[in-house]
Amino acid sequence: AFGDHTSIVVFGASGDLAKKKTFPALFGLYREGQLPANVNIIGYARSKLSTEEIRERIVDNLKLKNDKAKAKVDGFLKLISYVSGPYDQPEGFQKLNEAMNEYESKNQVSKPERLFYLALPPSVFTTVGSNIKTYAYPPKEGRLRIIVEKPFGHDLESSRKLQEDLAPLFTEEELYRIDHYLGKEMVKNLLVLRFGNEFLNAAWNNKHISSIQISFKEAFGTEGRGGYFDEIGIIRDVMQNHILQVLTLLTMERPTSFDPEAIRDEKVKVLKAFSELSKDDVLLGQYTKSEDGSKPGYLDDETVKNDSKCVTYAAIGVQIHNERWDGVPIVLRAGKALDESKVEIRIQFKPVAKGMFKEIQRNELVIRIQPDEAVYMKINSKIPGISTETSLTDLDLTYSKRYSEDFWIPEAYEALIRDCYLGNHSNFVRDDELDVSWALFTPLLNYIESDDFPKPEGYAYGSKGPKGLRQFLEKHNYAFSQEGSYQWPLTTPN
Ligand code: NAP
Ligand code: NAP
Repeated sequence: AFGDHTSIVVFGASGDLAKKKTFPALFGLYREGQLPANVNIIGYARSKLSTEEIRERIVDNLKLKNDKAKAKVDGFLKLISYVSGPYDQPEGFQKLNEAMNEYESKNQVSKPERLFYLALPPSVFTTVGSNIKTYAYPPKEGRLRIIVEKPFGHDLESSRKLQEDLAPLFTEEELYRIDHYLGKEMVKNLLVLRFGNEFLNAAWNNKHISSIQISFKEAFGTEGRGGYFDEIGIIRDVMQNHILQVLTLLTMERPTSFDPEAIRDEKVKVLKAFSELSKDDVLLGQYTKSEDGSKPGYLDDETVKNDSKCVTYAAIGVQIHNERWDGVPIVLRAGKALDESKVEIRIQFKPVAKGMFKEIQRNELVIRIQPDEAVYMKINSKIPGISTETSLTDLDLTYSKRYSEDFWIPEAYEALIRDCYLGNHSNFVRDDELDVSWALFTPLLNYIESDDFPKPEGYAYGSKGPKGLRQFLEKHNYAFSQEGSYQWPLTTPN
């Protein structure tokens, strides 16, 4: 781990991500005693801000829920200073270096440790990386870690170019590519759920599982800020990265240990067993006005092109051709402007043998990543009392019921910055992993962006997505439970 006298530099400190995520996460770690009390935090950006001004901006975005948090604010703000400078000229980096040198010599640090967080647009990653390397690299015996943010490229080619540009500057050991989904509590729990429970572990294959779904739903559209989204679409925004990361953790083989490289080796291995995504096995959509007309359609957003074919909803069939998964249909789906916001995994099991039962439903394991983390397994059980009939009920682990409110579950960014501080790469994306993930999605993206692609199908804002969704899921082996047969929360069984 990095020691008590580390410098943490946040590049792009004036920006949105720094304000909303990076500084609040640093505060959360400080509040919980997970950052050394004397750490040196420096914001860097071109904007001319005084130390006072940057501190004010930061404090405005901190969630101060309780007295403990309020009591820690002043101490935290005192750790923060600010350096203004350009990204493409030496002078700011030299100033930054002096500030770090001063801190290190004041604290008699013999092996300087410096953590750089690039909360910057990707267009300046390489320039900034190169200036860090030349002007702000820790002196000998020191160590550097650098966190970079998505997007890591736009397709396979641009992603490779970015890797090639960064590779001469930093070793893979020094680079931490953040995918904040890997910092989410329930995602971090996946390996424990899978490999720490024999009853799941034993059934985790094509002999017992009939279908897998990962769904990412947002209840809002681009809301007048679609300019950025229009260039990338839902597949690049959340599928090639977040959802695919979740799927690899769900389907990889058992790593030999929790060692980061052991885990990442297995992730890459399973990714290589994925078959090419077929343009004939997708459901693509773009949202239109809500049924009551109160919510705008995607094309009503003035920041997007009038005739945009941008995909705001995608359901994609995936197949993994290895011994464990051959024959199990997997559906990844993600969309904007849907009926609710939630991210969850559904694993549906095969039906039990008939004979004893005429009609019996399937077991289904649901892992809700957000909101309201929960793991529940739908099981068949006899209706209590004199009835001999079966009903579908559940084994339910709902975090808010099981764990007290005081239980600190770190936010994704808190968890990941802490991991980086500790030097743990498990929850960051490795270069080869990134490469395979882009190789998987690029042909489909090329098709969607070609003239051959017709307009995506419309679906109303606030609906479940394109009309064919139910059929698409059924085609991929998802069996809907019989109407009204499963109720939650528990009611008196009928
Ligand atoms: P941002 O606010 O647009 O940019 C951060 C800072 O970079 C700005 O305050 C600005 O600072 C500087 N900057 C902006 N455009 C620039 C340009 N063309 N050339 C040079 N400097 C420029 O971006 P952000 O939303 O914080 O996101 C930063 C990175 O995180 C991006 O790669 C983004 O994709 C990624 N990301 C963001 C979020 C989020 O919630 N915002 C979530 C996930 C990933 P100065 O002008 O003061 O130098
Ligand atoms: P459900 O709402 O019955 O949905 C089951 C699956 O079918 C979901 O993937 C759903 O997709 C899909 N679906 C339903 N109608 C569809 C349609 N017309 N077209 C396409 N797909 C459709 O989910 P459930 O697991 O049986 O749970 C029922 C309710 O109980 C949920 O609200 C759940 O959150 C709640 N519950 C909560 C807990 C807990 O908090 N611990 C435990 C158990 C149950 P969508 O997700 O896209 O709708």
